[in-house]
Amino acid sequence: MSTASHDSTAPDSERGPAPDGSRAAIADETAALRDAFESGRTRSIRARLDQLDALRRALRSERRRLTSALEQDLGKGRIDSAITELGVVTQEIAHTSRHLRSWLAPEKLTLGAMLAPSGGRLIREPLGLTLIIAPWNYPLNLTLSPLVAAIAGGNTVIVKPSEVAPATSAALAHLIRTHLDPDWVRVVEGAVEETTALLEQRFDLIFYTGNGTVGRIVARAAAEHLTPTILELGGKSPLFVDQGVDLERAARRIVWGKFSNTGQTCVAPDYLMATAKTVEELLPHLRRAVRELYGPDPRRCEAYGRMINDKHFDRVVGLIDDDQVVLGGTRGSAGASGADRASRYLPPTIMTGVDWTDPVMAEEVFGPVLPILTVGGPDEAIARIRERDKPLTAYVFTEDRDLERRFAAETSSGSLAVNLTLAHVGSPTMPFGGVGASGMGAYHGRAGLQAFTHAKPVVHKPLRPDTLRLVYPPYRGLRRGLLSRLFR
Ligand code: NAD
Repeated sequence: MSTASHDSTAPDSERGPAPDGSRAAIADETAALRDAFESGRTRSIRARLDQLDALRRALRSERRRLTSALEQDLGKGRIDSAITELGVVTQEIAHTSRHLRSWLAPEKLTLGAMLAPSGGRLIREPLGLTLIIAPWNYPLNLTLSPLVAAIAGGNTVIVKPSEVAPATSAALAHLIRTHLDPDWVRVVEGAVEETTALLEQRFDLIFYTGNGTVGRIVARAAAEHLTPTILELGGKSPLFVDQGVDLERAARRIVWGKFSNTGQTCVAPDYLMATAKTVEELLPHLRRAVRELYGPDPRRCEAYGRMINDKHFDRVVGLIDDDQVVLGGTRGSAGASGADRASRYLPPTIMTGVDWTDPVMAEEVFGPVLPILTVGGPDEAIARIRERDKPLTAYVFTEDRDLERRFAAETSSGSLAVNLTLAHVGSPTMPFGGVGASGMGAYHGRAGLQAFTHAKPVVHKPLRPDTLRLVYPPYRGLRRGLLSRLFR
């Protein structure tokens, strides 16, 4: 098993493979977990519930270590970690454990009059050996939530946390090695080299969360073994504010959605569209909401984090045009701090007068910068969404049910959220995933179990009466006439 320790200051290319993260060691890990799966130990529902319970207890006993790792990697406060990381996983475990037996109950199948007498059922079988590759932005949640689904599905699992959040990766590795059954779940830490070696192995499912460029690498490697993939990707999630909404409340929700986790959230509203009049009315509310949530100087606020590393800090700073900034920006204003590279602090930043061709619109922002674009109205907003990649989430703030229906029918996205941001993805009853460039497949709760199992129809038909004789050749006489009429 890999025990890679990482120098977070070294660029990825300079980090060699972990001593035991070698190809041979990785091949041994996968072979051991494949054997364990074949032994059947992960099949019984009782065993799955026990393993989920072990994970629940592990989260409790490792809470301090995990929370301080999240603080170290992302400047995440204790409460934020409780809500968006540990709490989400704990809730996922509770929900899945409560419903697992009923979700796994065989569903009755009716095969139709043509096959009568006959019967059938749909059973959910485990896929086998699975691989979870996680990103750095919610490094605990996005590693362990898919793990809950994988365990619930009765699969063995290799977990590859993100090396970009090294403290959390190490804390997760410790948790898995200390608290979970090594014949069920193992961890391989590492970066590109280790992940590449992992991807050479044959898995029965690869669950990847991260950017689309690596998503393509994963899908290509998976194709070699005809391995199915679930790709949880990102992109620019649009937000439209309609006229006539309660702007004070809307602003609070927008600000929370955009600046939580310092904007490093896959479903953060990426850019905001509204008419010129609405933008003018909304701006003071947005300013006020930032102050209300994060105080006069967000740098001092426990609930406001930091950029993950210098590379992402520099990237996001490069998207800011200080001439367009109406709040925050690199220079800071009104007593609030400006950007500070040493601590990777970037203030909540709002830019107006942004054009569709500006650099900030060329890529997913993935940082605390909200570009505001003026549109003629909902028609243009819908057209703009349609001409870009399908987003992970689309947001609309409106009181108009017809407009809500239009967004649902005329735009395509992983999900559509009306009058809220972010909170919907925390619900274990909502399937969470993208469409098109924002990904394929979904998970959370029952959708997670479905993702990590194969729905296998089991059909049976008694040998007597032998009704299938009707369709056997040769086709002559009465039978020929009957069959021609039946299958017209
Ligand atoms: P990242 O850099 O941590 O990469 C994700 C994983 O890919 C890591 O485990 C990393 O080791 C691995 N990886 C990196 N390069 C690789 C390579 N060449 N070959 C094989 N594996 C490689 O995270 P990231 O991609 O920067 O994450 C941010 C992106 O993820 C954003 O686009 C965001 O929107 C998206 N995201 C999506 C979701 C979702 O649920 N849909 C959630 C979080 C983030």
